[in-house]
Amino acid sequence: MEFELTEDQKAIQKMVREFAEKEVAPEIDLIEEKGVWTSSVLKKAAELGLAGMTIPTEYGGTGLDAISYNLAIQELSRVNGSVGITFAAHCGLGSSHINIMGTHEQKQRYLPKLASGEHWGGWGLTEPTSGSDAASLRTIATREGDGWKLNGQKVFLTNGHFASTFTIMAKTDPAAGAKGISAFVVEKGTKGLTLGKLEHKLGLHGSATSQVFLDDCWVPDSQLLGGPAGLGKGFTGAMKTLDAGRIAIGSLALGMAQGAYETALAYAKERQQFGKPIGSFQAIQFKLATMATELDAARLLLLRAAWLKDQGRDFSSAASMGKLYASEAAMRAATECIQVLGGNGYTTDYPVERHWRDIKLCEIGEGSSEVQRMVIAKSIGLPASR
Ligand SMILES: Cc1cc2nc3c(=O)[nH]c(=O)nc-3n(C[C@H](O)[C@H](O)[C@H](O)COP(=O)(O)OP(=O)(O)OC[C@H]3O[C@@H](n4cnc5c(N)ncnc54)[C@H](O)[C@@H]3O)c2cc1C
Repeated sequence: MEFELTEDQKAIQKMVREFAEKEVAPEIDLIEEKGVWTSSVLKKAAELGLAGMTIPTEYGGTGLDAISYNLAIQELSRVNGSVGITFAAHCGLGSSHINIMGTHEQKQRYLPKLASGEHWGGWGLTEPTSGSDAASLRTIATREGDGWKLNGQKVFLTNGHFASTFTIMAKTDPAAGAKGISAFVVEKGTKGLTLGKLEHKLGLHGSATSQVFLDDCWVPDSQLLGGPAGLGKGFTGAMKTLDAGRIAIGSLALGMAQGAYETALAYAKERQQFGKPIGSFQAIQFKLATMATELDAARLLLLRAAWLKDQGRDFSSAASMGKLYASEAAMRAATECIQVLGGNGYTTDYPVERHWRDIKLCEIGEGSSEVQRMVIAKSIGLPASR
């Protein structure tokens, strides 16, 4: 057993921490108000190779291992969760699904552009009537000429308002259930693909969460992910994509909680009441000690899941455990951080209230806590529950 990061992993961690502190931190107000896509952050991050973290080097990416990629998501999120989720959706969903399922030709066509940041990726599984029960999606792809005509609606599609490459799950054989779902790459500008409203959310204000409409949106056969062999494999590919994506959502939660915790720890050392730093009161010490312990436990669970992935071993249940624990521990920690800061914690002068609002998404997105518990229950041999 080895508890040390490699030198390369430490270097990535350090590089992204410096980038987040130097380039993201000064733009937080702009990001929160107008969206990350209006800031200089995406371009600068892409120049550093962060847009291609999950893309192999042969397709122009930086081909990071899962541990390094998750360290990077943690470091971005420690400073700003909206930036963290933007990269988790672009790298971990949009790019990864194409990398996992695409033909060599499709990878050559899309991955270099996604890796360089020329294109940003969005991924559409969720619909108005299907979230946790993702296989019940209603977007339909019907055969027409040498291609497919897509009709339906996607909701909550992260990065939708600035993405150029959308991976869209649709039913090619509605009678076949999950086995009748295929994935299509639809480019921005394709006739019939339009954007709806940009959601107003509790948190992650700098992240685009978009409605996407598909109205007689015709795409040629070349856009069926995986080619003819990909027919009916869209759901399996989506689940594989989500397995790794869940480690990143855990990392998103952990990074934000780490940011809140560091603020609260510094505050507890400085803030004086009753003639002493509040950090000398046991009630405050216990809060911070619990946070330190739970965030460390979350870190270890996430690193184990990422390590299993890097070893080519089954990591599905480990990813669910990591995501479930990290998001819930992060939510607990952020709530307590506000308490440590008292009235100041409730203001926007400190980042803890933002992290608290932003972390909540991590208990919902890419499979809610309830769905993670269902995955874990199945992995320990319990019958499927509905
Ligand atoms: C900010 C944000 C970004 C997102 N980004 C994307 C994206 O990029 N692409 C994408 O495709 N989707 C995205 N999503 C969608 C997200 O993955 C879904 O919101 C999530 O999977 C939950 O689905 P739902 O909202 O439809 O809730 P529902 O499925 O309606 O669930 C409602 C509640 O019921 C519970 N529940 C449901 N079924 C069960 C069950 N069998 N047992 C016990 N409890 C159950 C859930 O846990 C939840 O608490 C995003 C969502 C948000 C909010």
